[in-house]
Amino acid sequence: MSYIFPPPPVSAIPIHASSHWFPVHRIYCVGKNYAAHAREMGSDPTKEVPCFFTKPADAIVTNDAMPYPPVTSNLHYEGELVIAIGKRGADIAVADALDHVYGYALGLDMTRRDLQTEAGRNGQPWDTGKAFDFSAPISAIYPATQVGHISSGRIQLWVNDNLRQDSDISDLIWDCPQIISELSKLFTLQEGDLIFTGTPAGVGPVVAGDVIKLSIEKLGTLLTRIC
Ligand code: MN
Repeated sequence: MSYIFPPPPVSAIPIHASSHWFPVHRIYCVGKNYAAHAREMGSDPTKEVPCFFTKPADAIVTNDAMPYPPVTSNLHYEGELVIAIGKRGADIAVADALDHVYGYALGLDMTRRDLQTEAGRNGQPWDTGKAFDFSAPISAIYPATQVGHISSGRIQLWVNDNLRQDSDISDLIWDCPQIISELSKLFTLQEGDLIFTGTPAGVGPVVAGDVIKLSIEKLGTLLTRIC
């Protein structure tokens, strides 16, 4: 077989303290998974459950520079814990979910908030607001064999050293096992899938030149400069 043009390169993320890489299959994201953030977005977390959306695998950014995207004047940061799936499965029970986790990372679900808000208002999909090029800066992946499984720990985000988000992973509405179980009812999870687990309250805009620092206990920090 010969292709009419070269196939796209594999999106991949380095494994922390290793020469190996994690090849990315799909990127799933959870929306409205912290009550305080759901409320700041105008939702009522007592009446609405978290939701899923996706980004393309090649949206990841693994260096420290993210270009400011086109067609927005309201680019928002969302600091998130990311689950890296290492074992395929469908209809995964909550009790078995952590068996499917390879590791964890720090990630930014960058959002063209103006486009997302407009789409929501018109009952349209979120893709233009969420799934654009370079919309998923991510750290190295920390294997669960090294850091354990993450069910609690402080998550904080700074813009130019000003603290903007400050919460705890234990405040997730759906915790990691629940997310995996719910998502696997809808899609067969595959090795290489990433799941952005949702952002705490305190989202806001950034502009070119800003430096975003995300920190999650046990996982170190992710630094991203908007350029
Ligand atoms: Mn998000």
